[in-house]
Amino acid sequence: MINLKYILVFSILLIPLISISQNNNKMIKTEKEWKATLDEMSFQVLRNSYTERPFTGEYNLHFEKGAYNCKGCNQKLFESNNKYESNCGWPSFDQAIEGRITYVKDYSHNMFRIEVKCSKCDGHLGHVFNDGPKETTGKRYCINSAALSFKN
Ligand SMILES: [Zn+2]
Repeated sequence: MINLKYILVFSILLIPLISISQNNNKMIKTEKEWKATLDEMSFQVLRNSYTERPFTGEYNLHFEKGAYNCKGCNQKLFESNNKYESNCGWPSFDQAIEGRITYVKDYSHNMFRIEVKCSKCDGHLGHVFNDGPKETTGKRYCINSAALSFKN
């Protein structure tokens, strides 16, 4: 006969293990915790999908060699050799590092766009469009500077 007590104890032990394994690559914080770690503009962009005004961001015309990390969780998202000048007013990349981006259909502002978010903290980064350089990927990842931190 099955020992119900054994099954019950086993289930209780297993539940936290399952939730830990699902979240081990995610950074989850409360709104208050995000506010405490991010400046106001980065908080509005990453957590509330705000868009910084064009031609104002610190990395719009920034072409040093290095990597661009998520400002929320520090996950590496883009390499500087994938950054190019698109003249759109925001940092533009023709590709992201594989597996670091979540793509979400975005129907806001009466248009259809693909939103790009950090796969680790779900922070809003910007959008991806199909008008990038044809000689490479044809993609333009249009990213808010306030969502990024640059590392040499
Ligand atoms: Zn992140």
